[in-house]
Amino acid sequence: MTVSSDTNAHVVVVGAGQAGLQACVTLRLFGHEGPITLIGEEKQLPYQRPPLSKAYLKGDMGAERLLLKPANWFAENNIATKLEARVQRIDRSAKTIALADGEISYDQLILATGSRPRPCPIPGANLTGVFDLRTMDDVEGLKAAVTGAKRAVVIGAGYIGLEGAAVLRGMGMDVTVVEMADRILARVTGPELSGFFQKAHEAKGVTFRLGAATDKIVGDGQVRGVCLADGTEIEADLVLVGIGILPNQELAAEAGLVCNNGIVVDDDTRTDDPAIFAIGDCASRNLEIYARRGRLESVHNALEQGKLAAAAIAGRPRPPIDCPWFWSDQYDLKLQIAGLSHGSDRTVLRGSLEEQSFALFSFVGERLIACDAVNRPGEFLMAKKMIMAKATPDPVALADETQSIKDIAMAAIS
Ligand code: FAD
Repeated sequence: MTVSSDTNAHVVVVGAGQAGLQACVTLRLFGHEGPITLIGEEKQLPYQRPPLSKAYLKGDMGAERLLLKPANWFAENNIATKLEARVQRIDRSAKTIALADGEISYDQLILATGSRPRPCPIPGANLTGVFDLRTMDDVEGLKAAVTGAKRAVVIGAGYIGLEGAAVLRGMGMDVTVVEMADRILARVTGPELSGFFQKAHEAKGVTFRLGAATDKIVGDGQVRGVCLADGTEIEADLVLVGIGILPNQELAAEAGLVCNNGIVVDDDTRTDDPAIFAIGDCASRNLEIYARRGRLESVHNALEQGKLAAAAIAGRPRPPIDCPWFWSDQYDLKLQIAGLSHGSDRTVLRGSLEEQSFALFSFVGERLIACDAVNRPGEFLMAKKMIMAKATPDPVALADETQSIKDIAMAAIS
């Protein structure tokens, strides 16, 4: 869809993260000439979050390399930044946003407010030494706590908890992961991959307590341990909580925009107010290939939606939509995930779990809906194409390593 645009419009972007920055970059790329104001609550210029639980936590990457653009880029591209500034309210009829120190008018507003860690409901979660893993500040605190610490408990076995566990274990700590579900990664993948990653962590010395509810976190100001509902107490010098995230949708909801586990947007990322867009972790979008709506918590989604909002504002044709994808690094294992496996009724394995080189294809009936690939970039790329084409590849061929994945994909797509 191409819409007419006002190239002099003032675009205000709320949220200086991956999605908000991408909208700014693409607006300039598409020739938007009007003022752009990027407002962020954190003190840093936009930075990438994935290394926070990987190279940056490990100490293999410095803070300056986390930044998505150097400071001079913003001035060179005439993008005004306002950091450590929280937008408190939107007045849709006046087309203004309110900050603690005044109001700013907008012609087009982009909400890129991201998400926040789900508050930990466990008593003792406010003790010193209990950490979330979302921001650079969280990691600074965590890194300082690691010095001199010996035992870590990770609550929650999703990707962030497991990546954190891998790094803490690599630093020589005793690590126990406590998870309420009966397997790790239960919310995001099938049992085979859960089993594979559990074994990989156990081989490195991580202990798991699965199907285990945490009763309380104990300490005397400083955390000392975690008590499980069955009475077990696990000693801990620090606790990392990774129990999921919530979309930052309150600003939109209070302004009367439709929200339903995320700010509801159309295929151009427009909300039900034509002058307001929502992008990234905070947005609930149409997932056309899965015939449902949902929020995606990934860099790919943040970039894609930033481009979509910019194109709509600049009056450019809608950029292509790609298959949802994600990655996770744990130890030397590179997991690449194409598509969403939720609802899958069977999987087909290509390669070998033992050799840590495989792709697990998830199907609903005949149709391929997702692929989890460990050290298999070729399978990952072909799976993305097949998933977008709603293809029905031959499962016998997929399992047969003598047949080229490219040939299988081409046959399935054509
Ligand atoms: P965010 O990056 O959260 O940015 C939103 C910003 O808006 C924040 O700075 C917030 O403070 C600010 N904000 C919120 N409300 C207001 C307000 N009212 N006023 C002003 N500012 C406001 N994805 C992958 O694809 N692969 C990975 O390996 C991966 N690893 C990850 C590891 C970690 C530790 C984390 C935390 C995330 C990871 N992700 C990964 C997810 C990915 O980083 C996010 O999906 C992506 O950053 C979302 O971008 P965003 O711009 O929507 O939100």
